[in-house]
Amino acid sequence: MIRPIINEEIINRLRALLNGAKQVVITCHLSPDGDAVGSSLALCHILRRLGKDASVVTPDMVPRALQFLPGMRDITVYTQQEARAKRLIDDAQLIFCLDFNTLRRIDKMADAFTASAATKILIDHHEDPEDIFDLQISFPELSSTCELLYRVLLQLHMLNLIDRDAAQALYLGMMTDTGNFTYGSDNPEIYEILASLMRRRFDKQWIYNMAMNTFSADCLRLQGYAIDKKMELLPDVGGAFITLTRQELKQYHYRKGDTEGLVNKPLAIPGVDWVIFMREDADYIKVSCRSQGNFSVNELCNKYFHGGGHLNAAGGEYHGSMEEAVASVLEIANEIKNNPELFIITK
Ligand code: 5GP
Ligand code: MN
Repeated sequence: MIRPIINEEIINRLRALLNGAKQVVITCHLSPDGDAVGSSLALCHILRRLGKDASVVTPDMVPRALQFLPGMRDITVYTQQEARAKRLIDDAQLIFCLDFNTLRRIDKMADAFTASAATKILIDHHEDPEDIFDLQISFPELSSTCELLYRVLLQLHMLNLIDRDAAQALYLGMMTDTGNFTYGSDNPEIYEILASLMRRRFDKQWIYNMAMNTFSADCLRLQGYAIDKKMELLPDVGGAFITLTRQELKQYHYRKGDTEGLVNKPLAIPGVDWVIFMREDADYIKVSCRSQGNFSVNELCNKYFHGGGHLNAAGGEYHGSMEEAVASVLEIANEIKNNPELFIITK
């Protein structure tokens, strides 16, 4: 039995908004991950089946590794088709905001988004949404935005609109945001949702292989190099960090997505409870963090890296050189050494 968790009044408002809208834009965060792109495509399929003129607009390109799902070619990428994206955003009566909750996360698209008169509807599972949405459906305790979207559809009595394409898109997000149902997936209701999705008869193994187990030789070599040569352990404080400079990335013909999953690897080492991965991008150093147990990388990223996320998976940015970034990680380690409870969440 999947319990309804969304306030009925919110569901009624959503239903009324949907009834009154024809043009709908669905958007998600920068560097879309499986949950962002899965929830966006699923909602797009469903709204089109409802007769809406629905489009997915992403702030930047969907990583190649996730481009296998049907509907991917239809996506408008803001950085590549700015005029078209702006027109869609401008003409929309509704904008669904999936898997993000701060303007920062839609990057260059933020101005067009803010300028649009559309009603903005948040469906998301990140902590502390910004007060910029007209209707807010936010459940940080859920595994994924895809799980939340399923629950929204359940309460709207629209599960019948989930066809095979929508089911596999929802599955993609639930799978990637839980590390193939490893973490964040203890709620038994998740498996009831999966059972219902699996009845749409998609190839679950294909989704896993495409999204989580396909790597180029360069990518595997880069990850090997990063772990062999660039992983530093901080045994005093249960931490580890990995850095990769632009030069190193170039050496391995880095393509977007090639370091996906790398940040999780050091957690396999007994005694490592938190990991910081820093990758030099064009304008700044992208920070990605993972932890286990009650060490909050959400708070760590919030405090040091203008970012956030979830208890055990968060990210942010560092503006400065890689040397300075490493010095700041060592500074964080020192602070934790002086105050071991610093990022420990007690519930
Ligand atoms: P990843 O490390 O896979 O890029 O991101 C892990 C989690 O942290 C995701 O749930 C994502 O939403 C969040 N996150 C990643 N980067 C940022 C960021 O720059 N700002 C914020 N607020 N959250 C981030
Ligand atoms: Mn997510």
